[in-house]
Amino acid sequence: RGRWMVSEEIELNHAMADAGMEALESDMGEYTVQLDGENPSHIIMPAIHLNVGQVASLFHDKLEVDYTEDVDRLIQIGRETLRRNFFEADIGVSGVNFAVAETGTLLLVENEGNGRMSTTVPPVHIAVTGIEKVVENLRDVIPLLSLLTRSATGQAITTYVNMISGPRKADELDGPQEVHLVLLDNGRSQAFADGELRQTLNCIRCGACMNHCPVYTRIGGHAYGTVYPGP
Ligand code: SF4
Repeated sequence: RGRWMVSEEIELNHAMADAGMEALESDMGEYTVQLDGENPSHIIMPAIHLNVGQVASLFHDKLEVDYTEDVDRLIQIGRETLRRNFFEADIGVSGVNFAVAETGTLLLVENEGNGRMSTTVPPVHIAVTGIEKVVENLRDVIPLLSLLTRSATGQAITTYVNMISGPRKADELDGPQEVHLVLLDNGRSQAFADGELRQTLNCIRCGACMNHCPVYTRIGGHAYGTVYPGP
């Protein structure tokens, strides 16, 4: 599973566990939080509430590796564990930053490469996203993408920009054999019908408001008790 908040919203991990399926997070932050049995505390940086010592203890306890606070080594341990799982997964499930109606393209930005692995290595890719992420044309994505990456991580562009427009073609060497898109309403149409609530659907999940909110920075994301924490 590539990181995204809609899956937290619909409690996909619990539903999959109830159906007898094992769901493994592939984003390093979400993977760390999953190991801890916790929920993300930030929509962009899920494990921002943990310090390096806590991550080191978690990896030592849960993955049975030597205790180390060497960040590069911790990343390497996480990557090695996750990489094995990508090749064993039956289905890759991901979110979507923008879905383009014109071309059927699913756009997914990330910095770790886990999104690309989740969406290309398993034989089936299922993308799940809220209906507010659908934009009309490909050209509409350009300003949104610039706004998202600059506001989320201060980057002009993320390391990976994945544009998925369907399953592997007959002459292509890699990619999934099946791609499915699930569009989630879950109250969004109701919010759209409400003049005041409608503007909440403009949120592109950049997380900038959390980084600047004096309340969030004091109490952290878990204190809000909701999937989407912060102001
Ligand atoms: S409300 Fe605005 S600043 Fe906050 S996550 Fe959404 S788009 Fe970003």
